[in-house]
Amino acid sequence: MGTKQQIFQVALDVPLRRLFDYLSPCEEVSLCRGMRVKVPFGRQSRIGIILNQTDTSCVPANQLKAISQLCDTEALFPLSLCDFIVKTAAYYHHPIGEVAFSGLPRGIKLGKPINFPVDETSYLVDEIEHHALQLNLDQQKALDAIVLKQSSFQVFLLEGITGSGKTEIYLQAASHLLLKQKQVLVLVPEISLTPQTQDRFKARFGQEVICFHSKMTSKQRLEAWLKVRHHKAAIVIGTRSSIFLPFSNLGMIIIDEEHDPSFKQQEGFRYSARDLGVLRAKMANCPIILGSATPSFESIFNAKNGKYQELHLTKRATNTALASMTLLDIRHNKLEAGLSKVLLKEIEQNLKQDKQVLLFINRRGYAPIYLCYDCSWIAQCDHCDARLTYHHKKQVLICHHCLKQRSLPLNCPACHQAQLNPVGQGTEKLEAFLQVHFPHTVIARIDSDVTGKKGHLESLLSKAKNKEAQLLIGTQILAKGHHFPHLGMVAVVDADGGLFSVDFRSVERMAQLLIQVAGRAGRVHEAGKVFIQTFHPQHPLLQSILHQNYLKLAEQLLQERQAYHLPPYTYFALIRAQGPKKQMAESLLTQIQQQLQKQQNKAITISGPVPAPMLKRQGLYRYQLLLQAKERKPLHQMLSYSTAILENSKLAKKVHWSLDVDPIEMF
Ligand code: ADP
Ligand code: ZN
Ligand code: ZN
Repeated sequence: MGTKQQIFQVALDVPLRRLFDYLSPCEEVSLCRGMRVKVPFGRQSRIGIILNQTDTSCVPANQLKAISQLCDTEALFPLSLCDFIVKTAAYYHHPIGEVAFSGLPRGIKLGKPINFPVDETSYLVDEIEHHALQLNLDQQKALDAIVLKQSSFQVFLLEGITGSGKTEIYLQAASHLLLKQKQVLVLVPEISLTPQTQDRFKARFGQEVICFHSKMTSKQRLEAWLKVRHHKAAIVIGTRSSIFLPFSNLGMIIIDEEHDPSFKQQEGFRYSARDLGVLRAKMANCPIILGSATPSFESIFNAKNGKYQELHLTKRATNTALASMTLLDIRHNKLEAGLSKVLLKEIEQNLKQDKQVLLFINRRGYAPIYLCYDCSWIAQCDHCDARLTYHHKKQVLICHHCLKQRSLPLNCPACHQAQLNPVGQGTEKLEAFLQVHFPHTVIARIDSDVTGKKGHLESLLSKAKNKEAQLLIGTQILAKGHHFPHLGMVAVVDADGGLFSVDFRSVERMAQLLIQVAGRAGRVHEAGKVFIQTFHPQHPLLQSILHQNYLKLAEQLLQERQAYHLPPYTYFALIRAQGPKKQMAESLLTQIQQQLQKQQNKAITISGPVPAPMLKRQGLYRYQLLLQAKERKPLHQMLSYSTAILENSKLAKKVHWSLDVDPIEMF
């Protein structure tokens, strides 16, 4: 061993769970954490970020290479962000370089030089106070509680129905921190919700409010990223990747619609922006508000445990009465396009009274089944264990799992008779039927078939919001927090989909979805009407929604989860594997399972490997291994052990595998 050297540990955008050690290029330069550097890597060179500095390395001294070039003159990534990246990668057992580079604007990734401002002054916000609304008692109590903890870490769970004035509380709480020159991050679940939220914040705080999401151009994203870095933005409204923005003076995080599954990234680096929000707030020692009309059961559980502080808003801020709820029992009914006579009549009446109507159906396309009545052949995807959906306008069959299209067969592939039939309802069929039924009504269908084109969703949403369309038909896109000021009535065409699913979270999801859809009705001066069609009117879920008692339902279902040792009473992690041949993924997971069993760790329950609920998807066979524990620590030890085996397994090179810590979907 010679003299100790300075070693810089660099994150590179490669799928390996480690940092890479480099030496300083020469004595004179001063390097520090958070700087971007160019380094030799194999035969190439790459841009990396210095995340750590040490004086020892596992690499023999004569093999250590030097950094070839500095990209920055000072730390571009604040130290707090470097620490956050390190913790996040460890928690999700994900390659740290991929974590560090996730969501970065192109210019930053490519190592483009950045001008650090000479002028170090931060944003200016004026005129904060005089726009604030006079709060009602509930709101005041909630705000006081938040303001009291404005300089320390505390998670607040703000529960309040749609229109109860949560956003007003966000605004007033934020203003306290802006006065201290702190920055505030507001996360929303969907890009389409950013304009609406940005408008509210801009109206209050002016130009220092910016957006950050993946539909912005690289240039816009770079500009926004730097505004945050240089403290020129006061408030950022963004989607989940904004949790990795370079705040150095974070004063508060707000997660709106915190229950929304979109906060969890479902592929690649599977992180929950809500859970990371809590971590980041903790590291920044600042408050975080989780807001929702239908909080996730995890958050309710944490509030009951005293980890989160509960705040409740019990009525609508504008004193509008709650929407009335009606369950429509559709047993023994003759349905047209899935609609009962009673429901059609209600739609007609509302339209006549010039009230806007929203029909919710969670299925796009024309019909989910394409069937031969003679021999009962059903069109199936060749690549997935799934049925093909019939799309009428395009005249094709589409698999909604792999998105492959197939032309319509001229006759039945099994018995060759000529007549094949679309069965069941989708948005497209509903639209076609209603357009014939109400020929003079302007209909807007909003689902992911029509939202693919750039700007199309925005224009449909604004058509809906300013009432150019009277009748809205849509999937869950419409259930999220959009405000439709003219909506008088909401109908759920089929509520039964989530009632009998295998996933233990499906009832929670369904309850949230139904209440969120219902919450769209009757926003401004008038109570709205909500109708839910069902074949199971006595189902306890529907009954508790009818009585508008979400928290009680949550309490009951949490007891069930406790009895069955399910999250949030235990912690889950899934190891998934998929491969082109059936045995490959399964045998990889069997190998892992056998190795893990050898550890004889009683704190961990290992189940599987079992086939995923949809075994074959996009031509790949999928298996999963479930690890379950009462404490996080042994689970994380087991996961570290698993990744070490997987990274060195020969079979793992041929099979695609991934880890999911705190999975929210079990497929
Ligand atoms: P949420 O975010 O819970 O859906 P909002 O904050 O958007 O609720 O409030 C719903 C409506 O009520 C908005 O139009 C808002 O301006 C209004 N509002 C909120 N708080 C008050 C208040 N204290 N007094 C009067 N109107 C209010
Ligand atoms: Zn047939
Ligand atoms: Zn498919």
